[in-house]
Amino acid sequence: MSQVSHIIIVGAGIGGLSAALAFAKQNVQVTVLEQAECFGEVGAGLQISPNVLKVLRYLGLETELSQYAFTPQHASMRDYKTGDYYLKVPLADQAVHRYGAPYWHLHRADLHRVLVNGCKAAGVEFVLNANMTHYDETAEKSVQVTLDDGRTFAADLLVGADGIHSTVREQMLGYEKATFMGQVAWRGIVPVSELKVQVQPDACVWVGPNRHFVSYYLRGGEYVNFVAVEERDDWRSESWREEGNVAELKQNFSGWHPEVTEILYAASNSFLWALNGRDELPTWHQGRVALLGDACHPMLPFMAQGAAMAIEDAYVLAKCVADCRLSDALIEYEKIRKPRATKIQKMSKANASLYHMHGGLVGKMKLKALKAASQFAPDLIQSKLDPVYGYDVNQL
Ligand SMILES: Cc1cc2nc3c(=O)[nH]c(=O)nc-3n(C[C@H](O)[C@H](O)[C@H](O)COP(=O)(O)OP(=O)(O)OC[C@H]3O[C@@H](n4cnc5c(N)ncnc54)[C@H](O)[C@@H]3O)c2cc1C
Repeated sequence: MSQVSHIIIVGAGIGGLSAALAFAKQNVQVTVLEQAECFGEVGAGLQISPNVLKVLRYLGLETELSQYAFTPQHASMRDYKTGDYYLKVPLADQAVHRYGAPYWHLHRADLHRVLVNGCKAAGVEFVLNANMTHYDETAEKSVQVTLDDGRTFAADLLVGADGIHSTVREQMLGYEKATFMGQVAWRGIVPVSELKVQVQPDACVWVGPNRHFVSYYLRGGEYVNFVAVEERDDWRSESWREEGNVAELKQNFSGWHPEVTEILYAASNSFLWALNGRDELPTWHQGRVALLGDACHPMLPFMAQGAAMAIEDAYVLAKCVADCRLSDALIEYEKIRKPRATKIQKMSKANASLYHMHGGLVGKMKLKALKAASQFAPDLIQSKLDPVYGYDVNQL
């Protein structure tokens, strides 16, 4: 039987909101503390793979979200110049057949808004403008959170869903700067009406020397989302996100396939993100405090699984807490989630060298082997993705 009747979640990102909804659906009282003055998400897309779509289904959001989704036909990997396919895996009906749920693309703002509305309908309390500075475990067997304006909030459990620069993680495990991964990502969205070429309806990674480009449709095909990733030696800015110079971006990808250059030609602005990471943490919980999402396992976005892992964490955490004593629940949560998130962190990192054509001749051979496998042994490729997309949080 659960010993938790009230939880505080720090952070109203996709992970924090998913946790809020999962706990509220178990009749736990939930308070979400968010430092921002108002709700919002960056103007960018998210790939929602079947493993995470199943969680959104269990949270009761699939039908509402379906009106904003785009279903890609394939996951593809193409040459930056010729457009030749190194990989083309069917998604659409195949994903439903193989994994029991579709593969979607969603605008982050749509997912965020639907989560906020779901939380409100389930009775979650939101406190905006609430910048958490520290927490204390009190004698009455509860945890108290203090904000920078002196306000305090107490509950049975504190969940740190406060992202890569997590204050909760820092207090639990000590200060450690996130590591700049030597890559930056430009993100943007362009209206399809502005494009002069037909973009394939796929989740496509264009691979090239020291950089890659991801393109996919959003909102039923109204927009194309792009993520352009380049290697950099350092990140000089204080911020981990800044407005990028689109002319520079276009220049950096000049000479690429027309589908890429036309998308960039239509882009009027783009934000630039430093891609940061952390090594595997020694633990994800301590006393009455647990971490989830980017707060405990930030990853390169090269498997498109960061938000997916945060949403899976959220559901599993709520499930563990409902099932047993709090201390046992947090041990069980970490036991289930840490190996999976760590594995996907590593898979994401490994994709960097494939996507950026590293490794000279060996790298070229790898791409050729991938192309051959995609043509002659597609099931082999699918089977590599099965543990990621086939995962079901309710069948552990
Ligand atoms: C270029 C790029 C592309 C990506 N594409 C995909 C994709 O296709 N699919 C996918 O699954 N993932 C993708 N990801 C990863 C995904 O965006 C992140 O993993 C995910 O958003 C993390 O969610 P989170 O809720 O853990 O953290 P965050 O979204 O960072 O949310 C943290 C929240 O905590 C708040 N907060 C922080 N500190 C405090 C404090 N002290 N007090 C109160 N509030 C606080 C913040 O304001 C924020 O609202 C991508 C990432 C990048 C960079």
